[in-house]
Amino acid sequence: MRIVFDRSRCKLHGQCRGAAPELFDFAPDGSLVVLNENPPEELREAAQDAVDACPEQAISIED
Ligand code: SF4
Repeated sequence: MRIVFDRSRCKLHGQCRGAAPELFDFAPDGSLVVLNENPPEELREAAQDAVDACPEQAISIED
């Protein structure tokens, strides 16, 4: 599984981080970072929660 993050769509709401703090966080400069772009299968549900939580469709999952 690969997390695809489209930075150009990101409006920095932070819902993704709320849904999946194992996978998303804010950097010191305020930008969003994907902590693990190739997470293990056990984080799929968290990753999907983040996809669903993002109001900008900035996150997707590729298999
Ligand atoms: S929820 Fe979407 S738009 Fe908001 S910070 Fe996360 S990726 Fe960016």
